[in-house]
Amino acid sequence: MPAVPLQSLWSVTAPAGRACTALTTAWRAQAAVIGAGYTGLSAALHLAQAGREVAVLEAADIGAGASGSNGGQVIPGVKDDPDTLEQIFGPDVGARAVATVAAGPDLVFELIARHGLRCDAVRSGWIQLAASEAARAQLAGRVEQWRRRGAAVELLSRAEVVRLTGSDRYCGGLLDRRGGTVQPLSYVRGLAAALGRCGGRIFTGTPALKLTRTAGAWSIETPRGSLSAPLVIIATNAYSGAVRDDLRRTVVAVPSFQVATAPVPASLRAAILPGGQAASDTRRLLRYFRLDASGRLVMGSRGTFAAVPSVRAVRHHYHAVHEIYPQLDGLAFEYHWGGLVAMTRDHLPHLHELAPGLLAGLGYNGRGVAMATVMGGLLARRALGTPAAELGFPVTPLRPVPFHALSGIGARATIQYLRLADALARARGNP
Ligand SMILES: Cc1cc2nc3c(=O)[nH]c(=O)nc-3n(C[C@H](O)[C@H](O)[C@H](O)COP(=O)(O)OP(=O)(O)OC[C@H]3O[C@@H](n4cnc5c(N)ncnc54)[C@H](O)[C@@H]3O)c2cc1C
Repeated sequence: MPAVPLQSLWSVTAPAGRACTALTTAWRAQAAVIGAGYTGLSAALHLAQAGREVAVLEAADIGAGASGSNGGQVIPGVKDDPDTLEQIFGPDVGARAVATVAAGPDLVFELIARHGLRCDAVRSGWIQLAASEAARAQLAGRVEQWRRRGAAVELLSRAEVVRLTGSDRYCGGLLDRRGGTVQPLSYVRGLAAALGRCGGRIFTGTPALKLTRTAGAWSIETPRGSLSAPLVIIATNAYSGAVRDDLRRTVVAVPSFQVATAPVPASLRAAILPGGQAASDTRRLLRYFRLDASGRLVMGSRGTFAAVPSVRAVRHHYHAVHEIYPQLDGLAFEYHWGGLVAMTRDHLPHLHELAPGLLAGLGYNGRGVAMATVMGGLLARRALGTPAAELGFPVTPLRPVPFHALSGIGARATIQYLRLADALARARGNP
C-alpha cells in the first residue's frame, strides 16, 4: 500500500535549535549523558546547575527520539493509580513515589519559567475521557484517590465533557488541573539551550558505540572521538541500542503515530477544546488529542505502523478524528509523523543503577513529557550522591522482557487484539 510523506508539525513550528557538532576528540567531563531527549537533557541540566561539567552525546539531533515528536501533553502521574503504587511499593516508598510522579508537571512548568523556554506552554489541565460507563466508574475511583491526596482533580459528567471538548463521543471524564500542553520539540530544544547557558556541552551526530570501565572512569567510544567521565547516565529510552543490550531488552518499543489538521475554522473553534486542555481517552488503544498554538487539531494513537505508515494506518487516524469530531469532516490533514514509545511490563518507569557510576532511566509508557523530565532530576540527584533510599522513587534491578526478540511480533499481536476489543466494545454500545 502506498505511503504518505511524513512531516512533523512540531519541526515546522519550533524555533531553530542550538547548533551543535559531532565529537571528534578525546573529551573528558565530570558527567556524561547518552541521549538528548527530556531524560538526558533534564539530567544534564540538573547536573550543570549543580556545578558539574557535563557532556551529552546524541546519535542524531536534539529531540530526534520521542521528545521531539510526541503529543506534548503534560500529564501528572503514571499509569497506575496512587493507591496501586502504594500497594506495589508499600505505604512509605509508595507514598513518596506518588508525590514524585504527581509533581511532574510542576517541574516542567517551573523549568520553562525559570529558563524562559519558548515552547507554547499552557497549563490549563488534562482531560481523561471515559470511553465506556465502566471506564467512567474507574475514573471516579481515580478522582477520589487523587482528591484524598489534595490534588486538583475533578470528575466530569457527559455534559461537562461535551462543553470542555466539543465531542459527544464520551460518557464522562476527569479534569486534572495539574496538566497542560507544550510544543514538544520547542521544549526539548529549550532544555538544550538552557543547558548551554549553564555550560553543558552537547555533541550531536555522535552515537555512543561502546561503553567500557577504565581506572576510575567510564569511557564511551564514538565514531570519531571518545568521552570519559566517572559518571554516565544512559537516557536512550525506546531508541536504546546495543550499547547496553540488557537495558534495551527491558522495554518494548511501540510505534505511535499522529496527524494534524489545518487550523480549525474560527466558527468551530469556540466549541472544540475551548479551554485549551489536552485530552486522552481510556480506550485500550488510546487516542490522544489537543489543539496546537495555531488551532490545528493534533491527534495520535498507537498501532502497528511501519516507519513510513501505510495509507490504511493514516486513514485509521482520519477516521478517529471524524468519529470524535464529525464537525471537522472536510478539513484538510496537513502533517503526519510518528515515533517510538517505550513500554514496560509493569507499566512503570524504571530507574536503574547498572554499575557504580552508571545510571539509566526509561520506560514512560507514553507519559514521558513530565515523567522523563522528573527522571532526569532523579538521575542527577542520584549521580550527585543522594542515597537511593532518599530519592523518592525506587531504584530497581534490570528485568529484561522475556523473549524480547519476539516483542515486535508480540507488540503487533497485542495491538491487533486491543483494536478488536475496542471494536467489540463499540459494537456492544460502549465506545
Ligand atoms: C508519537 C508519540 C506521542 C507521545 N505523546 C506523549 C504525550 O502526549 N505526553 C507524554 O507525556 N508522553 C508522550 N509520549 C512519550 C514521550 O515522548 C517519551 O516518554 C519521552 O519523550 C522520552 O524521553 P527520553 O528522553 O527518555 O527519550 P527520547 O526522547 O526518545 O530520547 C532518546 C534519545 O537517545 C538517542 N540515542 C539512542 N541511542 C543512542 C546512542 N547509542 N548514542 C547517543 N544517543 C542515542 C536518540 O537518538 C534519542 O534522541 C509520546 C511518544 C511518542 C513516540
